[in-house]
Amino acid sequence: MNGLTVGQAAARAQTLGLPRLDAQVLLLHALGRAPHDRAWLLAHGDDTLDATVQATFEAHAQRRLNTEPVAYITGQKEFFGLTLQVDHRVLDPRAETETLVEWALSCLADTASPDVVDLGTGSGAIALALKHARPDAAISAVDASAEALAVASANAERLALHVDFHHGSWLAPLNSRTFDAIVSNPPYVASDDEHLAALKHEPLSALASGVDGLDDIRSIVRQAAQHLKPNGWLLLEHGYDQAQAVHTLLSNQGFVNVQSRPDLAGILRCTGGQWSTVK
Ligand code: GLN
Repeated sequence: MNGLTVGQAAARAQTLGLPRLDAQVLLLHALGRAPHDRAWLLAHGDDTLDATVQATFEAHAQRRLNTEPVAYITGQKEFFGLTLQVDHRVLDPRAETETLVEWALSCLADTASPDVVDLGTGSGAIALALKHARPDAAISAVDASAEALAVASANAERLALHVDFHHGSWLAPLNSRTFDAIVSNPPYVASDDEHLAALKHEPLSALASGVDGLDDIRSIVRQAAQHLKPNGWLLLEHGYDQAQAVHTLLSNQGFVNVQSRPDLAGILRCTGGQWSTVK
């Protein structure tokens, strides 16, 4: 169909099954406008779309209908007030991960110039949000994927936020360094979870973690203690039904003050504890 108006194109995409917000963001992207400029769409509902804009929008709508994240199509995602560039090399940063950032900031509120590391940084979302909120912090970030580190360091450079990036597995590249907080949104989906099919555009290495989804969390919990300063925190994001299991892993390892935090949907999404030398 040619010569659709802005309003018709959005309505048609919704008929095909695209949520209204996704249709609006993709339409704004095809028009070269900012993703938050939805008022413009409403004011210009009767404008006729240029043929190339319409073709771009229709191609992008098809990609979205094939479960590709909007963020990969537009190439960007808002996270904790920062605009990150993202693509298929990294996990699409999710709103629930902001819970982890907020928790880390509150744990560090009374520590001057804290040392913090983000394990499995992906796009750099957590590390960059922490550095933005706490310019006095020394932030390190680790990823096993060199491709992810390329995305994260480009984000750091563009946002002019300094983070020390390391390539390797969890705490291995950090030698004997110790931190006030270790934070991570590791892969935590069970490898046979049917939910993975809907996430096929994202790196599997950032999502799946063994039969119960806890392999990487177990590795991190095992390694973390020797990299924490006295009373330092290990804070982990995990799956919707893993809070109890992660709580048990941390307690069994000897962490104290073990507790969980809910995400915006009220799901216990993060669990963490402190490493105390006094027990
Ligand atoms: N939150 C993602 C999901 O379940 C998974 C991210 C992760 O494994 N860290 O859709």
